[in-house]
Amino acid sequence: LTNRILIAMVAGIATGSIINMLMHATGVSAELKSLVDVYLVNGLFDVIGRIFIASLKLLVVPLVLVSLICGSSSLGDSARMGPIAVKTLSFYLATTAIAISLALLFAVLLSPGAGVVLEGAADFQAGPAPPITDVLVDIFPSNPVRAMADGKMLQIIVFALLFGYAISHAGEPGRRLASFFRDVDAVIMKMVEVLMALAPYGVFALLSRLFSSMGIGAIMDLAAYFFTVLGVLLLHALGVYSILLRSLAGLSPAMLIRKMRPVWAFAFSTASSGATLPITLRTVEKRLGVHNSVAGFTVPLGATINMDGTAIMQGVATVFIAQVYGVDLSMGDFITVVLTATLASIGTAAVPGVGLVTLALVLEQAGLPVEGIALIIGVDRLLDMVRTAVNVTGDATVSVIVGKSEDQFDQHVFDDPMADQLDS
Ligand code: ASP
Repeated sequence: LTNRILIAMVAGIATGSIINMLMHATGVSAELKSLVDVYLVNGLFDVIGRIFIASLKLLVVPLVLVSLICGSSSLGDSARMGPIAVKTLSFYLATTAIAISLALLFAVLLSPGAGVVLEGAADFQAGPAPPITDVLVDIFPSNPVRAMADGKMLQIIVFALLFGYAISHAGEPGRRLASFFRDVDAVIMKMVEVLMALAPYGVFALLSRLFSSMGIGAIMDLAAYFFTVLGVLLLHALGVYSILLRSLAGLSPAMLIRKMRPVWAFAFSTASSGATLPITLRTVEKRLGVHNSVAGFTVPLGATINMDGTAIMQGVATVFIAQVYGVDLSMGDFITVVLTATLASIGTAAVPGVGLVTLALVLEQAGLPVEGIALIIGVDRLLDMVRTAVNVTGDATVSVIVGKSEDQFDQHVFDDPMADQLDS
């Protein structure tokens, strides 16, 4: 299945690029172009892609809720809950701070904005950012049903943790409920498996559609910015996470990378950590061997608040925009950028393009023109796909490290390259 998904990814990119060339070719009749556009790109591919994303999202709320209830109720020693939460949060914040610092460092060294002339920058309207107190209060649900209906992940996490805690302290009724939720969890995991089998079609459709309208020319205009972001993303995903995994958990980064490949295909084609969550969770539990008591908490939390890839884009973009506008950033500005980008990632949703919205906040804090975002919008979708893959890799890496340190980890599953391959 992994190979089929990866093949679908490459085939989708190729098909999309061919359609793109066809659409811009002079020798092709206008009728053919409009047929391809109406029936294929905005017809078949669009419909399949949207159904695919909808079915992924469909699983997110039930999966997070049930999995977290099972996890927190099975912890038994509920005194571990606090330390696990603190450890996870610290790792998420620390990796994000490392990510953005690396981004700032490389952007200053490589100066992607040097020599870029400001001309006809399109306008970009930034929405107002919510005050930090509202973000905090908003974590606590007043109505669990509404939280689920709105897909408010942090609220669902809080409710599920409380519910799971109560289950493990409610004696016999709690035990009955716990066994019921474990059954539901197994069934929902089965649903994820069914969906994964359909993934090649979804991935192919999404990428074909996207690349048929993607102007690769935009990349050339912004090549210095694009490749700086891409380089730091790869460095963070393959370098920083590997060092952390090896030094803190003594585990093989190569194995993690190997098992994360299908998750990357989902993240890349949907550009949403939220939509990828069911696949990330299943992979972390069944292929990387992290027990549900830890993964059920760390993965949904990470999908919501841990966005290292996004922070990297924001770091490079800030320096890039400052350079284009000829603004000198002071040490204080850099610290502000690190702090704002790290904290901003907490309050934002894991959906495509949200990184640009928080970038507005970061620019504002650093005293830079928010309209500068218009400069980089042209290549943002492609970078969004790559940074989403980095975001989910961060979630998985931290989950493994926390799982291992809490002894909620199965080394055999991690070491087994065939674990939960779904190919049989
Ligand atoms: N698309 C990213 C995610 O869902 C967020 C972003 O950087 O825009 O993880």
